Amino acid sequence: TEEKSLHFIEQIIEENLASGFPQDQLRFRFPPEPNGYLHIGHAKSICLNFGLGLKYNAPVNLRFDDTNPAKEEQEYVDAIKEDLQWLGFNWSEELYSSDYFQQLYDWAITMIKNGKAYIDSQSSEDMATQKGTPTQAGIDGPYRNRSVAENLTLFEGMKNGDFPEGSHVLRAKIDMKSTNMLMRDPLMYRILHRHHHRTGNQWNIYPMYDYAHGESDYIEQVSHSICTLEFVMHRELYNWFLDQIYDDSKVRPHQYEFARLNLNYTVMSKRKLLQLVQENIVNGWDDPRMPTISGLRRRGYTPNAIRKFCDIIGVAKRENVIDVSLLEFCLREDLNKTAPRVMAVLDPVKVVITNYPSDKIEWLEAENNQEDESAGFREVPFSAELYIEREDFLEVAPPKFFRLSLGNEVRLKNGYIIKGESVVKDAEGKITEIHVTYDEDSRSGSGSEASQRKVAGTLHWVSLKHAVEAEIRLYDRLFTDEAPDSHKGKNFLDFMNTNSLEIVKGFVEPSLVTVNSGDKFQFQRLGYFNVDKDSKEGKLVFNKTVGLKDAWEE
Ligand code: ATP
Ligand code: MG
Ligand code: MG
Repeated sequence: TEEKSLHFIEQIIEENLASGFPQDQLRFRFPPEPNGYLHIGHAKSICLNFGLGLKYNAPVNLRFDDTNPAKEEQEYVDAIKEDLQWLGFNWSEELYSSDYFQQLYDWAITMIKNGKAYIDSQSSEDMATQKGTPTQAGIDGPYRNRSVAENLTLFEGMKNGDFPEGSHVLRAKIDMKSTNMLMRDPLMYRILHRHHHRTGNQWNIYPMYDYAHGESDYIEQVSHSICTLEFVMHRELYNWFLDQIYDDSKVRPHQYEFARLNLNYTVMSKRKLLQLVQENIVNGWDDPRMPTISGLRRRGYTPNAIRKFCDIIGVAKRENVIDVSLLEFCLREDLNKTAPRVMAVLDPVKVVITNYPSDKIEWLEAENNQEDESAGFREVPFSAELYIEREDFLEVAPPKFFRLSLGNEVRLKNGYIIKGESVVKDAEGKITEIHVTYDEDSRSGSGSEASQRKVAGTLHWVSLKHAVEAEIRLYDRLFTDEAPDSHKGKNFLDFMNTNSLEIVKGFVEPSLVTVNSGDKFQFQRLGYFNVDKDSKEGKLVFNKTVGLKDAWEE
């Protein structure tokens, strides 16, 4: 494999190691909030953190950042674990910020005692006004100099559920004039009389992200805490909170920021994805049109393709938008090597070979994957009546039409050369049958002279009496716009593609009767397809995963 240059976080780690940081103290974490399913953006962070773990033989924790009971659920915890495992990553420990609620509370008390935190009892509007603006310093509020004793009593009351939501908050006492707005006495705790998916009704107060995250990193002794660029301004606060508790015999976590993944023709905020699910615009989080890991899996994506994609896009500090066709390219590359080739006809028209015995059945040998010798061969039945794609026939061939037409020859894949002779039409003029003759010496692989003949093209087909009916789900992009959530005055829902799912009845070759959910195939000349979880024996359902070529090149 080719030598890759180090990305900026690897460079930082190399420098840390060179200046004496012990390698066995390297520790990373992937910290999802269990308020939705993982999406392809998360995959970038997963590949980064777990990639560092593999590279430096260091532990990577899975930390559920579950400090907001309003939006978090066990369903999401389970889905996140399943997706991570499917991607092929193993975490060292499964940890929860909520397990640190007592420790975080105790540290908050220490901070109150040290004059570093106070209870504010104003409305959120008044607090916001006092905070000022980026160009105008804030002012101290009336509760800023409350006594330690009063702060402790109120904080305990908050914890015990004595006060309604919104009546008090705990704030860090930092600097209302800081040039960094986040340092102007940020909130540490708010009152929420909510059931938490793990701690139940034990707590009436919940810590804010900025307070909980860095302290959790410290508890877990994470050395490199990696997040996305929108947290750059939070780093100062992250460090301030660490300063309040740090013991210099321990590893001090550092926050580093990288550019998030942005992909065109989709949205990635969990709030928006949840909206698509709740409003039934898609069929659940794992709808094959969703950018979620579970949606991509159901669509037919492979872990390899996703990991390769993350590898190619790399890790940098500059935001950009990645074209979704790069993701599709990575998928095609992988499936081309691994997906068995089969024949399926999605828009069938009947072909009758008039000089082929009507009761004869031949089993033709077909190669499963020319890219993979070990994939071997299978047998495909051939008979006098077949289906081909309706679009593969025209009575009169225009120039460069390399398919079947009257008076012209094509090869049937793995079979014989046929020649168009006549058509049968219904009352509306629609073709119902194409009558052809075949060259009985031209069978593929027979070694005969006729088998070597060059003809205009090769068509896929399925023997009519052996054909297995299947439901085929064809997907298009979910949005008609490259950046559906970036238009001022418009909502991303204004850009939904109303034709993103088309369901057709097609026919597949009989080797597919016994497929299992998740099995992947190349339907020759059509693209890659996989077996949907709705598929059953006797009622097959396939998803179109991706075409053979970039749709924009065609
Ligand atoms: P959302 O805005 O969709 O809710 P989030 O960042 O709040 O996303 P988390 O569950 O907190 O979601 O994310 C877990 C980790 O994944 C974080 O470290 C976050 O930085 C990272 N992450 C989330 N989205 C992306 C993205 N598009 N690209 C790279 N990393 C991401
Ligand atoms: Mg988050
Ligand atoms: Mg979020």
